[in-house]
Amino acid sequence: MTRDPSQSSRRRFIKISTAALAAAPLANVLLSGAAQAAETLSESDPTATALGYKADATKAPKRTDKTAFCNNCNLFSGKADAADGPCSIFGGKLVNAKGWCTAWVKKA
Ligand code: SF4
Repeated sequence: MTRDPSQSSRRRFIKISTAALAAAPLANVLLSGAAQAAETLSESDPTATALGYKADATKAPKRTDKTAFCNNCNLFSGKADAADGPCSIFGGKLVNAKGWCTAWVKKA
């Protein structure tokens, strides 16, 4: 008995389609995660308000150490010379390198 080439091709098409459908939600999760990481923190964010976050550290009334900025905070994971970078206290949202909040901890 010989195989019908069109059946084999149909089976292969079904296998590939199933694999693509199974992978689609994973790709969506990965892409949305990347988009969230790039979100900039707003001063009006409830957690930012609670921690007195200011994108311009000089406008933060509770800041007493004039050398304290996001880019020298231990919770800032951006590059030292970047304009902004992710902050772990705000779930990886981008904070201004020259910003500040009450959770500031000197970079170790
Ligand atoms: S925890 Fe540090 S890096 Fe994050 S907003 Fe506050 S001062 Fe900036």
